[in-house]
Amino acid sequence: MISLGIDLGGTSAKLGVVEDGVILAAATVATRADSDYEGIVHDLTEAAKGLLAGYRVRKAGIGSPGLIDSVTGKVCYSNNIKWSDAPLRDDIGRELGLPALIANDAKCAALGEALYGAGKGFRRVAMLTIGTGVGGGFVCDGRPESGSPYADAAGIFGHMTLYPGGRVCNCGRKGCLESYCSATAIAARARYLTGKKMTAKDVFDAARAGDAKAQTVIDEFSRDLGTALVSLANILRPECFVIGGGVSASADLFLPAVNETLRREVYGSSHAPVKAYAAKLGNAAGVIGAASLR
Ligand SMILES: [Zn+2]
Repeated sequence: MISLGIDLGGTSAKLGVVEDGVILAAATVATRADSDYEGIVHDLTEAAKGLLAGYRVRKAGIGSPGLIDSVTGKVCYSNNIKWSDAPLRDDIGRELGLPALIANDAKCAALGEALYGAGKGFRRVAMLTIGTGVGGGFVCDGRPESGSPYADAAGIFGHMTLYPGGRVCNCGRKGCLESYCSATAIAARARYLTGKKMTAKDVFDAARAGDAKAQTVIDEFSRDLGTALVSLANILRPECFVIGGGVSASADLFLPAVNETLRREVYGSSHAPVKAYAAKLGNAAGVIGAASLR
């Protein structure tokens, strides 16, 4: 089946006509955070209509940041895009004349990777997307887990408590995984240790060049990520983890340590090992996953 996938972000939206995980045609639309809701819906549907011409598209899937009510299809709340109770699913569907589905954007990326990327062939896949924050999703038998239907969020992995009373997180709590394992946290830790302003990519590059302090930051990151994955493995029992986001380009620097922790610490891992893999689809995961919603 050919579907339209829309991956909505804070600065741009990616659209793709997708068949069996392959993007046949694609477009990008700017979505400024100060744009009003009607303006963004108009821009999205105009771009979509241009893409749909020439394809027998049967449905549209939308990945949106924030909290989604999967019953009403509304975006309840997003701190990236200043909307509340926006009926995005129904407005897009009506404008395009297609049945439409909606889910949180990180969950769509997880679905894309689970079906067509690093998780292909596994029935239970947990993905963590490590970027400005730590998002994620858990996919079982080709469907992303929804949690409460009225509050379909994917911040859940990022806001599991790693260190009670630890660093202050964006969410206002202390000690969340996100405040230790996001790209932002890697950069902040490196700045604290070196006094230099660095991005997470700079830290990985420096470690690759033999910088001891950068290596310390990555060792701490690997330990903390491994600890979090052990807990998730013991709760969800996925067959594999997929690590996405910008850091996945440097997975060779941390996945061996993370996988050693999983091998050593996960309950019963000698009988049913759980491994972590780097994501394969890159920026396309969200569009492919949104198109694969069902
Ligand atoms: Zn938090």
